[in-house]
Amino acid sequence: MGTITSRQFPFSAVIMITSLVAVASAYFLWTLWMRSDFGLTTWAEWSDISWQVAEVDSRGRIIRLGSHPMAIAALAGTISVCFVAFMFGAWQFLTGNEIRRKKDNDAASNRIEKVGQELDDEVLVLLGLLRQHTDVSSLHSEVLAKVNKTLPSLTTPDQVRGVVQRLIAENTKIRSEVDVLNARLQQSQTQIEKLRSSLSESQYLGMLDAVTQLKNRHWLEANLPREVKAASELNEPLCLIMADVDHFKKINDTFGHTVGDEILRRFGELLSKNIKGRDTAVRYGGEEFVVLLPQTQIDGADNLGEQIRDELQRKKWMHHRTGKPIGTVTASFGIAELRPGDGPESLLERADAKLYEAKADGRNCVKSDSD
Ligand code: GH3
Ligand code: MG
Ligand code: MG
Repeated sequence: MGTITSRQFPFSAVIMITSLVAVASAYFLWTLWMRSDFGLTTWAEWSDISWQVAEVDSRGRIIRLGSHPMAIAALAGTISVCFVAFMFGAWQFLTGNEIRRKKDNDAASNRIEKVGQELDDEVLVLLGLLRQHTDVSSLHSEVLAKVNKTLPSLTTPDQVRGVVQRLIAENTKIRSEVDVLNARLQQSQTQIEKLRSSLSESQYLGMLDAVTQLKNRHWLEANLPREVKAASELNEPLCLIMADVDHFKKINDTFGHTVGDEILRRFGELLSKNIKGRDTAVRYGGEEFVVLLPQTQIDGADNLGEQIRDELQRKKWMHHRTGKPIGTVTASFGIAELRPGDGPESLLERADAKLYEAKADGRNCVKSDSD
């Protein structure tokens, strides 16, 4: 039996509740302030009691009766601020998921960009070191060439000793410079390896969906062309299932986005559980999923689609916290098989057209190229 967890109380709901409490408190304080007897005033009585202030003379007689401008300004101000806060909270609540999703994507691409930049910088350092290495070597060659020129003119053993000592000193200097360069090269190589593994980790995370932990659309866009090409060249079968949760908007509207997210997570788990080997489940976007099935004939893909559809419709969902029944959740499926001349787009388009047929045929069913 599927259960739903309300993981976090949304911040936007806190803003909305706080603004409602603030309006109620403003009304309460206003009432206490305006009524000398500190009794509660009903809304109906406000116009003739609370909104009026009296100016009295030294004998206690009323000179003027009217609204207190400061009180009206304070109340109007509080209500306006609360109204704006409430609207902001409601806007956050309605758009929260989109913003969170965008933030996740932005964070992943920022990380990839940063690591890529660091890698570029390190490669520049490496190039600088290699250039330094070349300079040191040519300096050494120049010294040797000079010594070579002076050799024929050497006549005494002292002159020969002098040249040999100069060569030894030059060699020691060059060796120490080369040692420093080697150590720096080693450092740079380690740093590049670290950055390369960080980059592939970031790229991997950038291809994962944050809600379901399945591969995301970026992954499909990067890998589907390769799979289609391989299947065409090797003349192997390849199928693609496109699935879409039925009436998902209604589920969100009735039970909230947290419940909607949990259903997406569970549906993702159901897909992963039913596939094996080189098959890949992908969250294509929103409540739409793709299952990529290399080396799979259309009959096998049809059976798999039907098996997933049936398993999903049998689940009786209920809210984990409240125990409130959610009922059943169903999905529709469109299946396409790779045909000669197909590319990634035409394969996706045919699966999508079949999914559309399944929706038009009343949902909770599988439509396939084999029909
Ligand atoms: P149909 O049976 O025709 O597919 O109807 P539907 O309601 O499932 O389709 P529709 O396209 O009208 O609505 C999809 C809804 O999915 C709207 C959108 O707010 C919601 N949605 C998209 N992504 C997410 C998400 O990550 N989490 C949640 N909770 N809802 C999402
Ligand atoms: Mg849907
Ligand atoms: Mg949809």
